[in-house]
Amino acid sequence: MKLADLYARSPVAVQNVFASGYGLRERVRRYGGTYKELVHELQLHQWATPEELQADQLARLREQLAWCGREVPHYRDQFRQLGFDPRDVTSVDDLTALPLLDKEVVRADPDRFVPDRNPPKLIAQTTGGTTGTPLRYWASVDAVRFNYAAYEARTRRWAGTRFGDRIASIHGQPIVPADDQSGPFWRRNLAFNQLYLSVYHLNDANLPAYIAELESFDPHAIAGYTSAVHRIAQHILESGNLGRVSPSCILVSSETLTPAVRRDMEQAFGCRVFNGYSLGELVAWISECPEGSMHVSTEYGVVELVDGPAGSEIVATGLNNRAMPLIRYRTGDLATASDEPCRCGRHLPVLSSLTGRVDDVVRTPEGSVIGPAPMSLAFQRVPRLRRAQVHQDSVEAIRILLEPAPGFSEDDAAFLDRELRKRLGTTLRIDYEYVDAIPRTSGGKERLVVSSLGRSPIPG
Ligand SMILES: [Zn+2]
Repeated sequence: MKLADLYARSPVAVQNVFASGYGLRERVRRYGGTYKELVHELQLHQWATPEELQADQLARLREQLAWCGREVPHYRDQFRQLGFDPRDVTSVDDLTALPLLDKEVVRADPDRFVPDRNPPKLIAQTTGGTTGTPLRYWASVDAVRFNYAAYEARTRRWAGTRFGDRIASIHGQPIVPADDQSGPFWRRNLAFNQLYLSVYHLNDANLPAYIAELESFDPHAIAGYTSAVHRIAQHILESGNLGRVSPSCILVSSETLTPAVRRDMEQAFGCRVFNGYSLGELVAWISECPEGSMHVSTEYGVVELVDGPAGSEIVATGLNNRAMPLIRYRTGDLATASDEPCRCGRHLPVLSSLTGRVDDVVRTPEGSVIGPAPMSLAFQRVPRLRRAQVHQDSVEAIRILLEPAPGFSEDDAAFLDRELRKRLGTTLRIDYEYVDAIPRTSGGKERLVVSSLGRSPIPG
């Protein structure tokens, strides 16, 4: 029997032991060896000058490219064909001599991205399966430790919390069987001082139990998918339960954080929200500092913004994973750059906003492509609308799922229609459908747009 099957068939008390056992193994893997030195280094290096940051990033990039050209079949062939020599790289901008890398290319033949002569020990990573099947992806032990060191030094510490503090997590691990509707919908991981709550069982019927459990666990921090933490916040606001759950900070990631959603969470929990962005492919680490800026950790990856029809896409090159290096990898996530220096005094580059997914676009019969930012703004402006999701299978029409809050009226619906018409024009047909809950992806996330019309290519 596979371990996952055995877990699923065990009683909750045994599952808690499993969760803690998993935690113990992971604790060694993530926080053993060089982990503490890495946290220390990253703590010091956050105050480096722009010149020091650039020189450090260039050195890491040259090393990573040299490894790729020597050990990794895909890049060995590519560099030879293009006449690209990593030793000639004198600036991060020299990366543009290499093509963008689509996830599909990696998925088609993942083994060609793994070193064939000196492979490090491979650790399977979970990657976001927001569209289609997730990518099979591996990391080295060093890359995993670097990843958790970045989480500690650049996310938790910036938010005023640290490893070992009581933390409640709401992410995509399937810790509770999908058909279990009686609960409990959470497990304890003692090795991490963590309460892990299932994202898949969050619904109106179960939310009071989630809130009671959070109240009794009394976490120092709550970390989770933006939509999941927001759902709990909305329930607290709607049911007048303010103050029952009062952590010191909220860490959200993996989905777009709008100002309205941030406001809801800060009101419901009475603390600051810190946004973060990273991927299972370990190519970028972007996190919010105490002054509210999203800083790129230059030691972790090279982040470029490449313009396309839906906006500028994050294209990233991971600098630490020798097990499956990705160079100029298209993340499918949109962002805008900022030249404003941050008041916190760190010179790590800043992104002014993360605006959604490249695939979150609606196409109109006139040929327009409407990106996620204006769509999400239209929904945000509507009172008493909890959330919405757009489905598009032809350029003629879209279907919008609406999850209304109590008191949602005909006037609200008419207002929404006007807001959408301003952005989408009048020829596109819009059908509305009311649902109890917006469906989640297999990874437990929420999508703004589910479209079968395909990803927009980047010109050039
Ligand atoms: Zn800052």
